[in-house]
Amino acid sequence: AAFVRFDDVSLAYDGSGNAIEDINLDIHEGEFVAFVGPSGCGKSTFMKLCTGLHAPTQGSVRVDDAPVTGPLKISGMAFQNANLLPWRTTLDNVLLPLEIVEPYRRQFRQRREEFVGWARDLLATVGLAEHEDKYPWQLSGGMQQRASICRALIHRPRLLMLDEPFGALDAFTREELWCVLRDLWEAQRFTVVLVTHDLREAAFLADTVYVMSRRPGRVIERRTIELPRPRA
Ligand code: ADP
Ligand code: ADP
Repeated sequence: AAFVRFDDVSLAYDGSGNAIEDINLDIHEGEFVAFVGPSGCGKSTFMKLCTGLHAPTQGSVRVDDAPVTGPLKISGMAFQNANLLPWRTTLDNVLLPLEIVEPYRRQFRQRREEFVGWARDLLATVGLAEHEDKYPWQLSGGMQQRASICRALIHRPRLLMLDEPFGALDAFTREELWCVLRDLWEAQRFTVVLVTHDLREAAFLADTVYVMSRRPGRVIERRTIELPRPRA
């Protein structure tokens, strides 16, 4: 059964014509999919539909067999900008969602040590074990992005949404982080939706790549990637 299902989905921002149009697709649990296309083709709009931040103008979006009616609690997100809070350490930035999003708030109050342990495990996996007490300005851009991916995973989301997560990084750091992400995904098998305009990134990371056309954004190609992947 599909984990994320789009049936004939279109979205028009107030009266401006469809931003995305006639999207039909199924994403399976544990799948890693990438959406590629030029700026303005509707990648972020797609992402907001998946997570319930926008409702479709037409058609339906279902996640885990239920219509998406509001912000989805089972997803974690990371963006081009790591958006770490400057007055918090790396560890406390990773723990942030647990302080602001119910029902994780309650769980965090009851099982703080367990979550702190999990945050440290995540930081170790991405190579930040030694940096948990540092502040964002003491971290490189790549390290900040590693922390933001840990933050997105702290509540053990079933769906990880990544919007150009490596777009601001130099090519060398970016490819390092592809491997970091791939390792996290191989270990935990959450479902990933990655939005990017980097075709190489999509092909390196994803099982399935959807190519979107310019406005109105439509899926013009769906490609399954079966190449053996190089390891770091
Ligand atoms: P991408 O992420 O691929 O760059 P977006 O999903 O951000 O594309 O945008 C798709 C189209 O919808 C673009 O033409 C953009 O200008 C338009 N758009 C995005 N957000 C809004 C909004 N809040 N109001 C009106 N138009 C928007
Ligand atoms: P911003 O700095 O962009 O305002 P937010 O405060 O909205 O960031 O979110 C901080 C982090 O909290 C996000 O990166 C995300 O991982 C997590 N988060 C925000 N909203 C949700 C949500 N509805 N469900 C799960 N995690 C969320």
